[in-house]
Amino acid sequence: MDVDASTNSHEAREAAIVTTTEQVDQAMDVDPSTSAGPSGVTVQRTIHQETVTTTTTTASFPGAAASRELATASSSDHAVPPARPASSSAFRSSPALTNGHAHNHSSPGPSTFQTPNSHHTHLHNPVPLTHVASQDPDQKRMVRTGYIFDPLMMLHCQDGYTPTAETVLDNGDGHPEEPMRIKRIFTRLAESGLIKRMKKLEFGEVTAEQVMLVHTEDLWSKVQATEGLNDQFIQESKHYYEQLSLYVCRETAHCARLSCGGVIQACLSVCRNEVRNAFAIVRPPGHHAEPDEHMGFCFFNNVAVAAKEVTRLGLAKKVLILDWDVHHGNGTQRAFWDDPNVLYISLHRHDGGKFYPTSDFGALDMVGTGAGEGKSVNIPWPGPGFGDADYIYAFQRIVMPIAYEFSPDLVIISAGFDAAEGDMLGGCHVTPAAYGHMTHMLAALAGGKLVVALEGGYNLRAISDSALAVAHVLLGETPMELGALEASEAATEVIYQVAQVQSTHWKSIDVKACEPPEVTALEDGSSPIHSIPELLKIHRAYHMHAKYDLLQIPLASPELEAAFAGQIICNEGVYEVGPKGVLVVFVHDFGNLRVETDGVTSTNIHLANSYLIDTSDAIVSWIKSAGYNIIDVNVLKQLPTEFAREGPRMITKNAPEIEGQLIRYIWDNYVELSECEKVVLIGHGTGCQAVMDLVNKRDVERKVKAVVQVAGLHSLVRIDPNNIQRKDWFKRSNRIFVPSSHILLDDNRVCRRLGDQVFTSQKAKVVDVLNDVLPQIKQFVSEKVGDIPPVPVTNGHTESNGQTNGDLAGSLVAPAVTA
Ligand SMILES: [Zn+2]
Repeated sequence: MDVDASTNSHEAREAAIVTTTEQVDQAMDVDPSTSAGPSGVTVQRTIHQETVTTTTTTASFPGAAASRELATASSSDHAVPPARPASSSAFRSSPALTNGHAHNHSSPGPSTFQTPNSHHTHLHNPVPLTHVASQDPDQKRMVRTGYIFDPLMMLHCQDGYTPTAETVLDNGDGHPEEPMRIKRIFTRLAESGLIKRMKKLEFGEVTAEQVMLVHTEDLWSKVQATEGLNDQFIQESKHYYEQLSLYVCRETAHCARLSCGGVIQACLSVCRNEVRNAFAIVRPPGHHAEPDEHMGFCFFNNVAVAAKEVTRLGLAKKVLILDWDVHHGNGTQRAFWDDPNVLYISLHRHDGGKFYPTSDFGALDMVGTGAGEGKSVNIPWPGPGFGDADYIYAFQRIVMPIAYEFSPDLVIISAGFDAAEGDMLGGCHVTPAAYGHMTHMLAALAGGKLVVALEGGYNLRAISDSALAVAHVLLGETPMELGALEASEAATEVIYQVAQVQSTHWKSIDVKACEPPEVTALEDGSSPIHSIPELLKIHRAYHMHAKYDLLQIPLASPELEAAFAGQIICNEGVYEVGPKGVLVVFVHDFGNLRVETDGVTSTNIHLANSYLIDTSDAIVSWIKSAGYNIIDVNVLKQLPTEFAREGPRMITKNAPEIEGQLIRYIWDNYVELSECEKVVLIGHGTGCQAVMDLVNKRDVERKVKAVVQVAGLHSLVRIDPNNIQRKDWFKRSNRIFVPSSHILLDDNRVCRRLGDQVFTSQKAKVVDVLNDVLPQIKQFVSEKVGDIPPVPVTNGHTESNGQTNGDLAGSLVAPAVTA
């Protein structure tokens, strides 16, 4: 095999002796971390050198300068014709000499190094074949990372292409998918000293049979046919190809075959443990190529064909294809749409289906079909601008959990670098560091069997920087540090939606953990949080104004304003005597908020099925139509989230202080000053306590003609004022409406004293009770304010309504009308 660093000391010494200065760089091809022999002597190998004549690339490459570059920078092995002769395997044995570094030490031009005999002869001086073959395999060391590169893949270019100079940072006005893309990546890796630490993988062109594992024969023939095109036909077919986002030349098919063959070889070498991982620096890209159509700069789907080939050969059962190209890999997804053994995960711009390839196929609900259901995972960004934090977040929440659960035997990255910072076409901001981290995470899977296959990426600087970061990680280095990351709101929302879709297919997806965090401040510093009671309060004030012309009463006290602003409303001219000289003060809490949750295991509120029952509307409607003045007081500071666990207690001296303060404020500033001499106090729910607080703390007997308390099962009501002097007045003026199972009715002493004050309803909830007893309230109030003559209550005393306190209760408590 290839360079073997796990040599014994004898070999190391021998190697050291014959090393010459010129050969140091070449010998450094071995991984420096392991190249020191036991004696500490750096193992340096010499290569039996023999200059052979190189065939300079003579293909019809447009531009002599480019040809020249090919011949020098790419080094000798690239001169080998695409149809590899048997002897080409010799190059595999001397990666040091077949990388971009070699030309530093050789005169520019076509001279090259080559081992003349077999691929085992690269060790210092020719070693007998048998000797190497008999070496214990355990003593051999796997070169960690392989690479695929052949400058012949630069021959696919658009008519009129002028190569971009090495020194130019972007690719100017030409077609974005231009030949220099792979050259710049290769050069960057070579200049950084990485190529010499990697193993060049020899590869051939893809065969028709291999292509047809994914594609139709029709497509194969269509691509093949471009080889025979004459200039005129190329011109004439330009429009046809442009519509498919393609260009062709006579070398296109050749390059497409090489590109696909390269990715296949990378996968084979990794699966066969010849290298741990590999980087295929190839073009044209492949992930848009559909089974029956070439499109989007892609002719054959390199990654899809390679995945099919390794599974066909039984080298891997389950393959994960992670596509971080900024475009959706529609072709790859299509190839494995119903395949349970190939998991396709793509992060891409979708822009609601407006971003290339402009279909719904990359939407988040595209999950595969049949046996492949759940084996397509789409993370579609809704627009440009996504960056490191968003990608890392997507990896942490979606990609890696699913990948671990899937447990692949091989991972292939469809590595377009067009989401990179600086790529104008992608408009995203992924830095080299983030590409390194994503690679690092994926390298933890499948025992490290990872193939990185180049797809898109059009800013030459961005793609070479990104590829460099990826290659460093492939070689086992720690990825560059990322700063503190916080995913954007848009990304967290997308991930949440993806999690919801994919959680039905993957147990490891925790939807709850993907819930977007609450935003606590907007850019202008204001809060985006609106409490539901706040919204309801505003709604009610609006509603009461629109329907009943009621206006808000300002509160002069800052404390009250803070607690109850907008909750006190009245009719216009509330100080005046009005048509009947009657003022009703209606003190209540909110209606019943009916909330439905998403399910038994969730506390998420299902908003669409939640609603507010506001029975106060009915009572306000009656007060208005009766011609009474009204002050409507909503005393609730917060909506209750649950019912009290213990039953109500009867002894409550005062309402909560702030509510008592509010009702006294209203009394002092409005009721006392009103020209109305007939005042009615109606308490509903928690409003009952506020009403009784007023009764106890102000001289209300003169003006107040009626007091009504409407309670729910858990509302507190008071049956007596604190002041004994008011007892008779109160008994005359008071009515209490409670559910028939209210705890009040269990107390015999209380029942004995109640007289005809208490009426019951079969309803339990406070809103229902109010609705239920409203006719009786109307009757009672009308009598008390002198609208109608008093009618003695007669029909209730003899009827039983299921109360448990026997005759006594039956004689004291009248049943309410049940609706
Ligand atoms: Zn792309």
